[in-house]
Amino acid sequence: MKDCVFCKIASGEIPAKKLYEDGEMLAFYDMEPKAPLHFLVIPKKHIPNVMEAEESESGLLGALLWRAQKLAVEAGFEKNGARFVINCKEDGGQTVPHLHIHVLSGRPLGWPPG
Ligand code: 5GP
Ligand code: ZN
Repeated sequence: MKDCVFCKIASGEIPAKKLYEDGEMLAFYDMEPKAPLHFLVIPKKHIPNVMEAEESESGLLGALLWRAQKLAVEAGFEKNGARFVINCKEDGGQTVPHLHIHVLSGRPLGWPPG
């Protein structure tokens, strides 16, 4: 989608430090990390947010979460754990309107969110 920063990262127009890429998704480090490990997993296809995903995209949603956990385990965070976050729309704190899973780890994280 035009003017979408994550579509531009998916197409290579904007550079990002990638951890993983295949035909349908991309994982890259967040440019403003909120934990020692902080990366994002996105579909290459522009899906605005998880609440607007369609039933036909349910397999892709599962694949994104599966990849997020694989990458967190491969990075060595299985023992201490991690947080997998999907912010959605205004009240959910979403700032980039292209679906993404945050993976945060490497320090204890507070709960509940502020
Ligand atoms: P949200 O607030 O939408 O859940 O998360 C968006 C995240 O994307 C933020 O943590 C922000 O730091 C990150 N981000 C925004 N623009 C860019 C970018 O151009 N490159 C990278 N690597 N991360 C970005
Ligand atoms: Zn997009």
